Amino acid sequence: MKPIIKKVNLARLSSGDELGLQLYQFVGNHPGEKIYIQANLHGAEIVGNVVINELFHWLSQLEADQLAGEIWLVPACNPLGMNQRSHFFSPGRFNSYDGVDWNRIFWNYEQQHSHQIETFAQQYLNAPRETIYKDYLQTIQNAFDQQKQFKDYASSVPYWCHYRNCLQSLCLDAQHVIDIHSSSNQGINFFFGFPGRTEQAKSFLLDIGILVEQPEGLTFDEAFINPWLSLEKAFANRGRSINFDLASWTLELGSGMTANQQSVATGVQGIKNYLAQQHVVDVAKFPLAETNHHNITWVNKKQIKKYYAPTGGIIQSYPPLKSNVVAKETIYQLLQFNKESGEPELIEVTAEESGIIFDVGTNQAVNEGEYVLSVLEL
Ligand SMILES: [Zn+2]
Repeated sequence: MKPIIKKVNLARLSSGDELGLQLYQFVGNHPGEKIYIQANLHGAEIVGNVVINELFHWLSQLEADQLAGEIWLVPACNPLGMNQRSHFFSPGRFNSYDGVDWNRIFWNYEQQHSHQIETFAQQYLNAPRETIYKDYLQTIQNAFDQQKQFKDYASSVPYWCHYRNCLQSLCLDAQHVIDIHSSSNQGINFFFGFPGRTEQAKSFLLDIGILVEQPEGLTFDEAFINPWLSLEKAFANRGRSINFDLASWTLELGSGMTANQQSVATGVQGIKNYLAQQHVVDVAKFPLAETNHHNITWVNKKQIKKYYAPTGGIIQSYPPLKSNVVAKETIYQLLQFNKESGEPELIEVTAEESGIIFDVGTNQAVNEGEYVLSVLEL
């Protein structure tokens, strides 16, 4: 099966070059759901591009008869963030014009229209599920188009606003959205998921999931799913249980500025398995037999404790990722030249609670108050 390949123009640069996205659309012979997968929203988090490349070749080898619905792939989805450099490093997590995190900019229907969601649920309380889905999607689409039109005014809109409109216009009508990230530092593989979707989550075969129970609403995954979760809740409050079978995932695959082979393999296998489990692809051996017994340790964000340097120095003896830490025992050492006529000092920092090493900083030289590592307290 050959994909349809499209270019999406993002912005004309001062040099006259055009900044754009590449979109690969695989369209099956059978009707089905739309899956949207993107990578590299944060500049240093390149691993997802390699995952998308593997999915691209895998899907290309399938027959169109093996695919129900459509799979859209967008690698390098934030060219401005990805190309940003400071010496050898990729600091493109934040928009350099306004300092805002590239994953806190998205348009969320729910945030401006919560009152309308209640009215909608009331009005459609006894309507068939399909009608509700179709009409609500149209309502979201209309509101999205309305805010998008400011781009065409003479006063126009800032780049971040135009950029988010471009990305979201690709996935507003999808049923499943997968946004592939990694740590900016050195991290383990895990993912973010939403309530009511924990059974589907097993397909990714990842061991640790963060359940997003109180979304802020501005991240890519939240902006997609929140309006639907709110509608489900509005129906539940009126006594009708309804699940639209829409899902949004953020996969966090290992470390920044690298595409670790093991993280790539884990991500590729998980996404293939997910697509098979959702009956989007029909391929031998998938879904994998272990899917149903796969055990996920669900945690919340508060269980991830970040450690900041108590004083400036050079980190010695970092514990390896996923290793156990024990409360009150040494977690790392800090070498300090105090410049107060004293000898070099080795400062021991102990763990506050027991858990596992979840993430460690790439730069082992830290000023006081800089990020050192994170412990997942279990
Ligand atoms: Zn990220």
